[in-house]
Amino acid sequence: MSYVDEVYDRVVKQNPGEGEFHQAVKEVLDSLRIVIDANEAKYRKAALLERLVEPERIISFRVPWVDDNGQVRVNKGFRVQFNSAIGPYKGGLRLHPSVNQGILKFLGFEQTFKNSLTGLPIGGGKGGSDFDPKGKSDREVMAFCQSFMTELSKYIGADQDVPAGDIGVGAREIGYLYGQYKRMTGLYEGVLTGKGLTYGGSLVRTQATGYGLIYILDEMLRHNGRELEGKSVVISGSGNVAIYASEKAIQLGAKVVALSDSTGYIYDKNGIRLEIVKEIKEVRRGRIKEYADEVPSAVYTEGKGIWNIPCDIALPCATQNELNLEDAKALKANGCFAVAEGANMPSTREATDFFLENGMMFMPGKAANAGGVATSALEMSQNSLRLSWTFEEVDKKLHDIMVGIYEKSAKAAKRYGVKGNYVAGANIAGFEKVVEAMMAQGIV
Ligand code: NDP
Repeated sequence: MSYVDEVYDRVVKQNPGEGEFHQAVKEVLDSLRIVIDANEAKYRKAALLERLVEPERIISFRVPWVDDNGQVRVNKGFRVQFNSAIGPYKGGLRLHPSVNQGILKFLGFEQTFKNSLTGLPIGGGKGGSDFDPKGKSDREVMAFCQSFMTELSKYIGADQDVPAGDIGVGAREIGYLYGQYKRMTGLYEGVLTGKGLTYGGSLVRTQATGYGLIYILDEMLRHNGRELEGKSVVISGSGNVAIYASEKAIQLGAKVVALSDSTGYIYDKNGIRLEIVKEIKEVRRGRIKEYADEVPSAVYTEGKGIWNIPCDIALPCATQNELNLEDAKALKANGCFAVAEGANMPSTREATDFFLENGMMFMPGKAANAGGVATSALEMSQNSLRLSWTFEEVDKKLHDIMVGIYEKSAKAAKRYGVKGNYVAGANIAGFEKVVEAMMAQGIV
């Protein structure tokens, strides 16, 4: 049996019930077979893969808090410190009822390679809770965040582990978490990224994942003889990533025709008016349905189905496994020629294979959404320097990083004879750096 298959079997056996984690490990290791087979004896002796798929540490804790009726509630809190070979653990915190250890392990594992790919000195981690911020008052969110950080603060630090936002964690939550960290430790340090601009945040961090997604998409299109201008784009989600991907796509001359949330999607043949979406989502914290109440050219449809809308380019920006094989076929049949993932692992394995086998351009999340964490690393640098760079400075660095990620992924794919397969390219490029650092640091 090959080393990859052996290690994958072991992962399935040792981590029961963690389907997303198995899926992520399988996808990554499968695409690395060419590299692993070429170095099998060396990697086996060092148990490299066994170490790579085992988090360095998982912290799991109780999060008690009091709701507005005086009732005590209890959630589960986690931090998965996956790999620190190339820098302090770095990765977001997710607050969503679906959160469990397996999902955070899949995210932390993926994050390790993504962070490596940015070229910046950051390791991989992820955390969160099954707390659902939807429908909670500001006071309840604060009570939860303070309780969560009271425990988490024992395990993180500016040179140790630097969490950030993810689903359900935006500026409000980061503010409450940061305040509590400072109170618990007495340290005013860059322990979280995505902070507000008045207390150490970086310009462009809010926009970074969405803008970065469009920068790398643009790069991929141009290298394949296409351009973004004039193209119609369907984007799922209407959170941080979806909104700023829409903004940059529109700025570069594309027409965004659809957005969604977990209850349904809107289609506006005239092109989405983003100022209205921002008002609904960022100010009122409302539902995407409200857009259709305000804009006569828009149609709202309840439930799934966004990928049946004809478009040139599809950008899944909501959550994992939101785009399956049927969706991939529908996209292709309707003329879609490029897909780039703003979310983490939004396409199922079957959908990804379909894109690759049917000559569609496909940029996986690991490369395509790395702009967020890259800008978080730039926020860490500014905090260490006690300086703030201008919007233009950070935006240019972000752009250069995304172009660099495209080049690294494209070159690695070419080097191993799978030109145009950015899934393999991104995994190989991310893997090589982490492995070199792990081998150099001995058995740890
Ligand atoms: P937000 O919480 O801001 O937005 C998430 C969006 O996706 C919302 O519109 C939400 O709808 C929708 N959504 C969430 N869960 C589901 C679900 N189970 N089914 C359908 N729709 C769902 O999160 P972000 O925009 O920050 O994150 C989106 C994705 O991008 C995630 O996969 C995240 O890991 C990834 N990502 C984010 C980065 C960042 O910097 N923020 C960086 C890199 C990756 P509703 O409001 O109805 O829940």
